[in-house]
Amino acid sequence: MAQYKPPLRDDLAGYTPYGAPQLDVEVCLNVNENPFPPSSALARALAENVATAAVRMNRYPDRDFPELRRALANYLERESGVRLPVESIWAANGSNEVMAHVMHAFGGPGRTALTFPPTYSMYPEYARESFTDLVSVPRLDDFTVDMGASLAAIAELRPSVVLLASPNNPTGTSIDLDDVARIARSVAGVQGVLVVDEAYAEFRREGVPSALELLADHTNVIVTRTMSKAFAMAGARVGYAAAHAAVVDALRVVRLPYHLSTITQAVAMTALEFADELQNDVALLREQRDDLAQALVARGLTVVPSDANFCFFGSFPDRHQVWQGLLDRGVLIRETGPQDWLRVSVGTPEENARFIAALDEVLALLQSDGKGNGGSG
Ligand code: PMP
Repeated sequence: MAQYKPPLRDDLAGYTPYGAPQLDVEVCLNVNENPFPPSSALARALAENVATAAVRMNRYPDRDFPELRRALANYLERESGVRLPVESIWAANGSNEVMAHVMHAFGGPGRTALTFPPTYSMYPEYARESFTDLVSVPRLDDFTVDMGASLAAIAELRPSVVLLASPNNPTGTSIDLDDVARIARSVAGVQGVLVVDEAYAEFRREGVPSALELLADHTNVIVTRTMSKAFAMAGARVGYAAAHAAVVDALRVVRLPYHLSTITQAVAMTALEFADELQNDVALLREQRDDLAQALVARGLTVVPSDANFCFFGSFPDRHQVWQGLLDRGVLIRETGPQDWLRVSVGTPEENARFIAALDEVLALLQSDGKGNGGSG
């Protein structure tokens, strides 16, 4: 084919598309998916409801999808005990797109977003695509948020958007709700919004509250959630947000027309009808997560306490060697975050056992090469 250099924006020169490797391996524990496919009852209901929706596919979907927003509000009330009006709910194609709406509405040229790395690797992309400056306040050594540095940075930089993932990816750590409230107040003081990215909320440990509880008293808080994890619907691309109605109205201004397809809406409604059934799998995954963490600790590794469906563990003088050794044994995990750590998603009990067996082999090999892990220190 003839060489062609399209007129790419100067600021995008040198960038490649973002994404974890999608490799064809037997045990995929690299992108925090829910390992359980839909039950046959759910799969059947999805097919039936999509078939019903199919007969009106000549029409555009409902732009404001009140039915789905009401169903999401009802789910959040059951899940977190927080009742929200339908005007407080927004949805899009994955929480990725919800976040893009947030950045397009509240970021922009001359504005600053603040984030707390190591954290979700898409935040820099959201900032880039909305021409927002991104400033980082690094977490402390135990991956908790450095409250002193954060409050000082908010006062000094006056960010219009603060992005806080809790439970955080890749560390799995949640931030104390009082600290979220302190950050929300300080962000309100500089007329900014605080996004609490709760993609993994349903996996939080007993007694860990959701930032949904802050919405009533903090008008500048936006809680984002997803159906990709707890609902096992990563393929459907449905994310949503809960926020003040004025925030939702702002998001509606920047969304593309008819962004949420008729099929997506039908699929999301159906999955919500099966929420209770899906919660059983979430409970099993939480148990499996704790078992996995214990198994890693038993091997002399350090594991960060996780409120998510993955474990962040280390430390390795050469993590790539461990990652490659696992891949050679058919297990794909993720090299992300600080360079001596690895992240493994919680799989089915069988997949977790495969991962541990492969890890034992890799650790034994490294030990015999004199390149063992750094121990639990
Ligand atoms: N936030 C965090 C912290 C995530 O880890 C992810 C996905 N890995 C997302 C948001 C996006 O999820 P989705 O677009 O599938 O809703």
